[in-house]
Amino acid sequence: MSMDLTFLGTGSAYPSPHRGASAVVLRTEGECWLFDCGEGTQTQLMKSQLKAGKINKIFISHLHGDHLFGLPGLLCTVSLNYSPTQPPNCVDIYGPVGLRHFLRVALELSGSQLVFPYAVHELEPTGDQCPPEGLLSPTVTQSSESLHPQERPGRTICLEGESDCYLLFEEKHFTVKAFRLFHRIPSFGFCVQEYDRPGRLNTHLLKELGLTPGPLYGQLKNGETITLENGQVVKPSEVLEPAIPGRKVCIFGDCSSLLGEGGLKACRGADILVHEATLADGFQERAVEHGHSTPSMAAAVARSCEVRRLVLYHFSQRYKPVSLQKDSEEDDVLELQRQAEDALKGTATEVSLAEDFLTLPIPIKRSN
Ligand SMILES: [Zn+2]
Ligand SMILES: [Zn+2]
Repeated sequence: MSMDLTFLGTGSAYPSPHRGASAVVLRTEGECWLFDCGEGTQTQLMKSQLKAGKINKIFISHLHGDHLFGLPGLLCTVSLNYSPTQPPNCVDIYGPVGLRHFLRVALELSGSQLVFPYAVHELEPTGDQCPPEGLLSPTVTQSSESLHPQERPGRTICLEGESDCYLLFEEKHFTVKAFRLFHRIPSFGFCVQEYDRPGRLNTHLLKELGLTPGPLYGQLKNGETITLENGQVVKPSEVLEPAIPGRKVCIFGDCSSLLGEGGLKACRGADILVHEATLADGFQERAVEHGHSTPSMAAAVARSCEVRRLVLYHFSQRYKPVSLQKDSEEDDVLELQRQAEDALKGTATEVSLAEDFLTLPIPIKRSN
């Protein structure tokens, strides 16, 4: 099953001609999931190889505009372009408490109708995810109780004490969790974990047992113990090669730190960890003051979690893409990569810089 990650926006604060506001798409066969939807995400989608109409799940890390302002517009445009032959599938949207209200009001006040249903599943933050003034008052988020005509009731998801994570859903191929981050307002990271797959059948061994390809192969592959005609019992573990570990992709919202052990555990061994690096190490104080991270701070998370690849994004608009840098006086985005690489010396973690429209394939792993 192919899997890739496409960056549609890698800038912080606002979209510019050089960098879109935050938006990342994770694609696997039949699934197209959008993580954050800053202003202009729909035009970035049009410029990319991706199709907005294929997006079936949306994850919003936090309610700052550079991660959210594109959402009502994107839904309306998808609705306008909806093929009459396409079944109106429900779009599931996950994000912090307040998202349901934001979307409802934006759609209601603009008189926007959608041809497909949607549901907003809200994550209940804990009080320590931001300074007190960053928490929304319940009078703001609960002021409208009636659903938008196309809205379906969503779940409210609370932190699970034991795992210190939010279980968003489990489906055929993946488990998706969220974890807490510290920012100026409640912010979350997301962890997409693919299930391990059974290893390949050792056909050499099966032939020795007198088994030819057929339904029994399928039963063994599905983990069932079989009995041969001669009465011999064959367990799957005897004829299957080691399981193929599932892939793991973790995407962080804005943050100056992770909260609790849940996020660290969820991200351990990730194939890709996407982490913000708004400003260079030299501006750490300013970055933290605004609830953001530097490359070394992102690298520290990658080091603790022993991830394969750290991808930096959400750069201040002062850092132009490499192809647009004109002279050595300008802030150099490559410096951010070097700082993360320095901080990860001695580890096996690779560092990449995300740019708008970069697609990173996530190859299937080999057996352990
Ligand atoms: Zn941001
Ligand atoms: Zn933010």
